[in-house]
Amino acid sequence: MQSQPAIDIAACTICGGMEFKAGPGGRLFKDVPPVCGQCGSLERHRATRMILESLGVERFSDLSVLQLSLDPSIDRNWFRSFEYSIYENHNSIDIMSIDRPDSAYDVVICNHVLEHVPEDRVAMRELSRITSNRGFLYISVPDPANRAETSDWGEPDWTQHGHYRVYGMDILHKLEQTLPDRYVVLIKQVDPVTGRQDAGFLVSKSRRWHDVPFMNKMRAKSVCRAGQP
Ligand SMILES: [Zn+2]
Repeated sequence: MQSQPAIDIAACTICGGMEFKAGPGGRLFKDVPPVCGQCGSLERHRATRMILESLGVERFSDLSVLQLSLDPSIDRNWFRSFEYSIYENHNSIDIMSIDRPDSAYDVVICNHVLEHVPEDRVAMRELSRITSNRGFLYISVPDPANRAETSDWGEPDWTQHGHYRVYGMDILHKLEQTLPDRYVVLIKQVDPVTGRQDAGFLVSKSRRWHDVPFMNKMRAKSVCRAGQP
């Protein structure tokens, strides 16, 4: 009788769990169940956690954070203080008109929210406005790691979670044009459980944050020079 070959199962990058289950409707990614059985994380949460950890979480300890929409990609204990907002729920913040002063937070994390708003350029400016110069804004959206061009429907598509659009990698240039006084860095990461690619955007006024992904040899690309030619 032949023995079964050992199968390498990657651990969840958030909780270390080794058991995974299918998503809603039995969804798999390339035959792999994507949902962590222990913490419920998805592919994008685990990839985002890896990106943020690669920035050096020890650097976050004296920074305040606002997380727009709650997900397990960050650990609130990394930060000096933590606040969150959920759309039409707890402490709901309209990202096209944020009821906060300039530089209200050091770090703003905005995962999978921009696709829900009609005017994403307005939201990008608002998110950047409330981020202090000592910190950074981190944005992720579906699905620039896996498509080149954005498809914008101009209205919410309720067959696609009410999204106004699905982003392609051209969001990089939208960020660059919309926030010409910021550094914008694209960072790519692969979820080790499923192999699914994801990407996030690090937006800051700080050369220090701009340089970290490159120093740490992440898969990163910079498009902006913070207003410099
Ligand atoms: Zn987990």
